[in-house]
Amino acid sequence: MTLGSRPVLTDYHMHLQPDGEEARRGGAHRWDQYGGYLSPGWIERYVEHARSRAVQEIAFTEHVHRFAEARDWHANAWWREEATEDIDAYCEALGAAKRAGLPVIVGVEMDWLPDRTEEIARFLERRPFDIVLGSVHWVGELAIDHPDYPMWDHHDGVEVWQAYLKELVAAAESGLFDVLAHPDLPKVFGHNLPDEVGAAVMDAVAAIAATGIAVECSSAGLRKKPRELYPEPGLLAEFRAAGVPVTLASDAHRPEDVGSDYPTTVAALRGAGYETITRFAAREPSQVSLRWE
Ligand SMILES: [Zn+2]
Ligand SMILES: [Zn+2]
Repeated sequence: MTLGSRPVLTDYHMHLQPDGEEARRGGAHRWDQYGGYLSPGWIERYVEHARSRAVQEIAFTEHVHRFAEARDWHANAWWREEATEDIDAYCEALGAAKRAGLPVIVGVEMDWLPDRTEEIARFLERRPFDIVLGSVHWVGELAIDHPDYPMWDHHDGVEVWQAYLKELVAAAESGLFDVLAHPDLPKVFGHNLPDEVGAAVMDAVAAIAATGIAVECSSAGLRKKPRELYPEPGLLAEFRAAGVPVTLASDAHRPEDVGSDYPTTVAALRGAGYETITRFAAREPSQVSLRWE
């Protein structure tokens, strides 16, 4: 699909199902009526909500931990239980949607797991991805945003943020990913950036900028406890000043959240000085004008 040279909105981070087995069981009646969560009918519901918010192109970016191929990448019970799906069936369903003319691109949300770089590279290189998100959800065995494996029980806020930023930079420098997702995720449970970490943040921004990777500006934080964007507007302005390109994202886990809170999100991008967002096709980035009126 060509978006032409007109200003656009995109949504480059979403999931076809909610997180967690219980939530998926509760939601199954919604996608089962179309023939499953990979069915054309369910995918079209996301496109419909995108169109209703003037979003021209969307990327599905399922969590890598959902796929059987990644089952042994991380040694905890939850991860192994989640890894049930077939990645090739997922790519094929999205490829079919694309071929049918829907404004959909094929993506995946990868975890940064520093001891699995070879597996990650192999997983990515054989498949028709348009966009690959890199997310730091885990620091070793502990989780930034999973309540069952909380890093917060073992480390204070300064330690968590410092360790997180170190992994975020390593993820960027790995060269495996196109976009860093939710770059200030540690605030997810309300632990805002401590003042002591300010210098480390600026070092991280510079290191990320040097790699050429994009960061996403995600409205998901507005729907969660932080009640602010990822990254918060001050940090977004630092990324802009350092020349880091951005994508626009909702991290929707249901059709209704595609493009959610975009007026606020686009205003923050404009406020930070961004006039373009990054588009991806076959993992090649290009800049397109951001639609803002
Ligand atoms: Zn994530
Ligand atoms: Zn996500």
